Amino acid sequence: MTLLRLTDRGLYCEAGDFFVDPWAAVDRAIVTHAHGDHVAWGCGAYLASAPGVPVLRERLDPAARIRGAAYGVPVDVGGVRVSLHPAGHILGSAQVRVEHQGEVWVVSGDYKTEPDPTCTPWEPVRCDTFVTECTFGLPVYRWPAQSTVVDDIHAWWRANQVAGKASLLFGYALGKAQRLIAALDPEVGPILTHGAVERMTRVYRETGVRLPPTTHAALSDRSMWPRAIVVAPPSADGSAWARRFGAQSTAFASGWMAIRGTRRRRAIDRGFTMSDHVDWPGLLAAIDATGARRVWATHGYTATLVRWLQEHGIEARAIETRYEGERDDTAGDEGGVEEPT
Ligand SMILES: [Zn+2]
Ligand SMILES: [Zn+2]
Repeated sequence: MTLLRLTDRGLYCEAGDFFVDPWAAVDRAIVTHAHGDHVAWGCGAYLASAPGVPVLRERLDPAARIRGAAYGVPVDVGGVRVSLHPAGHILGSAQVRVEHQGEVWVVSGDYKTEPDPTCTPWEPVRCDTFVTECTFGLPVYRWPAQSTVVDDIHAWWRANQVAGKASLLFGYALGKAQRLIAALDPEVGPILTHGAVERMTRVYRETGVRLPPTTHAALSDRSMWPRAIVVAPPSADGSAWARRFGAQSTAFASGWMAIRGTRRRRAIDRGFTMSDHVDWPGLLAAIDATGARRVWATHGYTATLVRWLQEHGIEARAIETRYEGERDDTAGDEGGVEEPT
């Protein structure tokens, strides 16, 4: 029997009687972050990182019992020592460290090692067994320098202004949208937000994340639109909501944009490669930094990673999740957080 094991409701720790990121209601859930594929409704009690609590509260029933733990400070959960450590993925995202009888496991949740001013940077946590996501676990995924991507976004925005077009920039409403907004230069023009983005951006600001000024698109004047960049979730693409902006150019900011075919499949004008997950070199470096002897891979291209690790002397296996196979660029592993309006 291992300290954590996979059950039909997710990863379970029998010693402490709790689940990590269960996909069905359980008594005690430890949640890595507030994206839809990591949070189940109706759990008896939730434990999340302290900075992740306001974001999680926005996503759950207002009556949900949510307890916050400061990063790095151990708490006792049913006799098991649990601590949460920054994952660098979105605001409040955490890796879950579980220690019992001298054995240490870390569940990564989603993570990235690139800098992101909207959340606490990822930290390596030493462990015996590392349960890692591998959304982009293929050697073809290598992220370009962020400064280049941000320059490209501004160049596209300026060119659209010259052409009299609104710039519609799509990215997940929780996390990606705020990271994009943080990178935008408000001197170029007005930054407008879709309602779903606006809601989460407000939560970010309330927790102290500094972002340039934005205007909820619903309150904007149409004279602003040809100069504006509008940050919206991918589901808004092609909607009546998006068409209101008139002449427009559309772009999607996502790790999936690294692959030309993905870009072509979507009817968008531009793709910007910006991901909140580790790329292939980042994934291997992160695993190495944990010192883990055993790796469980989940969420993504597990087979490739498992084979690579086995060839390099690390015990590795894939674990299935309910969301396995949801790799479509429109759904993504974060598709559940999108709002239709
Ligand atoms: Zn996520
Ligand atoms: Zn995820």
